[in-house]
Amino acid sequence: MEISFDEYKNAFEQIAERRKKIYQEYDNLLAERRDEQERLDNRRDEIRSYTTRYANVHHPLISSHRDDFESAPYNLYFDGSEAHHVDERHVVYIPRKMHHSVRHSLKTGEGMNEINKLAFDYLFNSL
Ligand SMILES: [Zn+2]
Repeated sequence: MEISFDEYKNAFEQIAERRKKIYQEYDNLLAERRDEQERLDNRRDEIRSYTTRYANVHHPLISSHRDDFESAPYNLYFDGSEAHHVDERHVVYIPRKMHHSVRHSLKTGEGMNEINKLAFDYLFNSL
């Protein structure tokens, strides 16, 4: 049985059309997943930031656990303070401005003597 050129052409176009639809559906599905993932990411960030704020205010011990180090605070969090790690286990809450006055890194040891002296001076003076 002979198949005409037009019949071939029609069949081919139908297949191409169906394929295009499938690709479009697939694209839409991917886009939906992306949106859903973005929504979940945003929600996660929102919860994370809320939790951090809550922990900072109410549970200085918990908030100090955000770092890589297991830590315990020497004093309590207060408004405008930041947690400074005097060593890998211990944290002193000092005024943000003081904390940023000395460039330091617990990991490399850079500036640690200087900032720790400030932190302990502050701690003892506040007792
Ligand atoms: Zn620090």
